[in-house]
Amino acid sequence: MTEHDDGLAFLPLGGTGEIGMNLNLYRLGETWLAVDCGIGFSGNDTPEAEILVPDPTYIMERRDKLAGLVITHAHEDHIGAVAHLWTRLGCPIYATPFAATVLRRKLGEARLDQQVNIHVIKCGGRFNVGPFDIEFIPVTHSVPEAQAMAIRTPHGLVVHTGDWKLDPSPMVGPPTDVERLRQIGDEGVLALVCDSTNVMTPGASRSEGEVRIGLTELISSLKGRIAVTCFASNVARVETIAMAAQAAGRTVVLVGRSLRNLDVAARECGYLSGVLPFLTEHEANDLPDEQVVMIITGSQGEPRSALSRIASDTHPSIALGEGDTVIYSSRMIPGNERAIMQVQDNLTRRGVRVITDKDGVMIHCSGHATADDVRTMYDLIRPQYAVPTHGEWRHLTAHAALAQEKGIAAVLLEDGDILNLAPGKVQVVDTAPTGRLAVDGNRLLAMTGDVLTARRKMLFNGIIIASFAVDDEGYVIGEPKISAPGLLEPEEPESIRVREEFAQAIDEIPDELRLDDQAFREAAKTALRRALGRKLQKRPLVDVHVLRV
Ligand SMILES: [Zn+2]
Repeated sequence: MTEHDDGLAFLPLGGTGEIGMNLNLYRLGETWLAVDCGIGFSGNDTPEAEILVPDPTYIMERRDKLAGLVITHAHEDHIGAVAHLWTRLGCPIYATPFAATVLRRKLGEARLDQQVNIHVIKCGGRFNVGPFDIEFIPVTHSVPEAQAMAIRTPHGLVVHTGDWKLDPSPMVGPPTDVERLRQIGDEGVLALVCDSTNVMTPGASRSEGEVRIGLTELISSLKGRIAVTCFASNVARVETIAMAAQAAGRTVVLVGRSLRNLDVAARECGYLSGVLPFLTEHEANDLPDEQVVMIITGSQGEPRSALSRIASDTHPSIALGEGDTVIYSSRMIPGNERAIMQVQDNLTRRGVRVITDKDGVMIHCSGHATADDVRTMYDLIRPQYAVPTHGEWRHLTAHAALAQEKGIAAVLLEDGDILNLAPGKVQVVDTAPTGRLAVDGNRLLAMTGDVLTARRKMLFNGIIIASFAVDDEGYVIGEPKISAPGLLEPEEPESIRVREEFAQAIDEIPDELRLDDQAFREAAKTALRRALGRKLQKRPLVDVHVLRV
């Protein structure tokens, strides 16, 4: 099986593992289709890099054969890498009105909005991307306009769910289009590529309708100032909080940039129309405590978020204290626990009451399909093959077990596995290189590249750099200079000792090494390592500059 045959294949380049930066590829003959292009947050694993994107090299090398990128929904782990990677992909993009609006704002910030061709596809719409005949099927998720995809090809029909759940009362947008999914199942589906995030949660999904009741009761029972934190993109939740606030006679104030951006995008697309315009944080201070609900960013303990700054009393305009309440209408994303606890601890220290979904109140529900939801999806679609995606290995395995319960063969893939779907046997036939790139200022750096490897080493062991001048014959002129930021203070006795020992050691470098720059530099690096010695029990990055004058 080569990639130039006329078969159909699936290749996840990102999306497996804890850091779910989705980038899925389908190949039909020679033509490629990309589905989603998201970022991941590195958490504690890689402190040298905060935001990661999938390494697109494999598809970049085939970009002349890449027909387009379809976005299933506007979450960061599905849309967030587009602005970082588009110049490497260069293809047209297909998205619903809401995802397109969110994407245009991101591309505008990256000054790419004039170059990128975005085709806006209505929810449930049908369109062609090269030879791929694609139909959107509306599904419920914790962001408006999430779409599953039916991908029709001469070799069969693949259903790609994206992120979804079943919720009879999603509050914003329609429920998952179960009837359409059943009709597509009737057509005969080769493979179901399906979200695994919550597959280990038994039972059926909880509903946003229940959250609306829970938050309305809770907010009306509280006195003092109230702040509620949730994901900015969860427009249904923002509406729920706003409705609950209005029911309690309170005015809603938005605090935090990402919430203000999403509010603009949502209203542009006709959402939040039943909700009064939100006040800004500066207007909040003119209102009595009992008349305010703040919706605030920072549910994941992000250090620069509004909530973290309020908790540490460094927010320029808002303070919370005794008698006030902060409600977490969100879940803890694995890896963020410690940062979230720190914020909650700081709030508690200020006398603020903290309420989370662990307190026996219905103030949050997940946007991902639980075990029973996934079972229902298999009953609707009845695919020949199950391809669990979007989860860690234990989620994918539990998902495969659910499919097998239904008598459906499951294929487990890791990022980079190229799965032949048709014709012939459904099996992994090849592997594409994968990796992660870190967003570092306005560059992308390979996690395994020299720059980040050096930064990792510096982070734990520091760096020591020596410079000295030599004459034509390589004899040292003047005193060497040494700096070791992150390792030694400039004038501490240890710094002085290292400089003196280094000065002596470079005087002893054999004459024959002094004429060749490279050899001289290596010998000087060895001398510097030796001068530093073992007293500090550190092995820092070592560098030497030899200046010929
Ligand atoms: Zn999502």
